[in-house]
Amino acid sequence: MIKIRGLQKSFHDQEVIKNIDLDISPGSVVVIIGPSGSGKSTFLRCLNGLEIPNNGIIEIDGLQLDFSKKVTQKQIIDLRRRTGMVFQNYALFPHLTVIENIIEGLITVKKLPKIEAIKIGEKLLEKVGLLTHKDYYPSQLSGGQEQRVAIARALAMDPKVMLFDEPTSALDPELVNEVLKVMKDLANEGMTMVIVTHEMKFAEEVANEVVFFDEGVIIEHGPPSLIFHNPKKERTKKFLSLIQ
Ligand code: ADP
Ligand code: MG
Repeated sequence: MIKIRGLQKSFHDQEVIKNIDLDISPGSVVVIIGPSGSGKSTFLRCLNGLEIPNNGIIEIDGLQLDFSKKVTQKQIIDLRRRTGMVFQNYALFPHLTVIENIIEGLITVKKLPKIEAIKIGEKLLEKVGLLTHKDYYPSQLSGGQEQRVAIARALAMDPKVMLFDEPTSALDPELVNEVLKVMKDLANEGMTMVIVTHEMKFAEEVANEVVFFDEGVIIEHGPPSLIFHNPKKERTKKFLSLIQ
């Protein structure tokens, strides 16, 4: 369902993503691991059009963008609509309540009537266990709760794939599991997910595929049993030995 071919992205003359190919099948969970600065965030940002690749093809659910040609703003918007993204720093709108944060896109982008948007928003808040907090402001939530709202907000737009960029890295340790649990539930429901994370236990449990990035290339990828327990490449072994 997601096909990436020859993806390339440079900042000035630094090539950060170097000719990446990757296929992601529907309903699968792909975990990306790799050292800091290896291009993981840039890769995710390319997938949802926050960065414009210099070259390559991204195909998501029938929409194909070929960056070797001119890509229109409309194509970028279409790409963004197919992808939901959750960042390390939750980035909720501070002046809006939880429910207002969630329905904002439904009203302004999808043009749904407010009543309908609220219905969808409440259902999603129930899913992430925060319906009771719908009228709270972000400042009244814990980091873990904010991140669960951020997930609900991304889901509200009904994306084809959810992209997570280190969603638990900024959290106090005791708040990490509540966010991972919501992500696990999503995976079990069949959501297609691409997750950059350092949570190896989670990756081992949930990932169908682990991708090891280094210096803008995929060094190796495969099921967690292979990448974590029987990596083929020296660089993968070295990285894993440093983090475990
Ligand atoms: P990771 O998420 O794996 O830590 P990033 O994708 O954030 O890596 O960054 C990869 C490289 O690209 C780094 O060297 C970083 O400094 C550089 N980079 C990322 N974003 C920008 C940007 N907007 N402008 C210039 N350089 C950037
Ligand atoms: Mg990053």
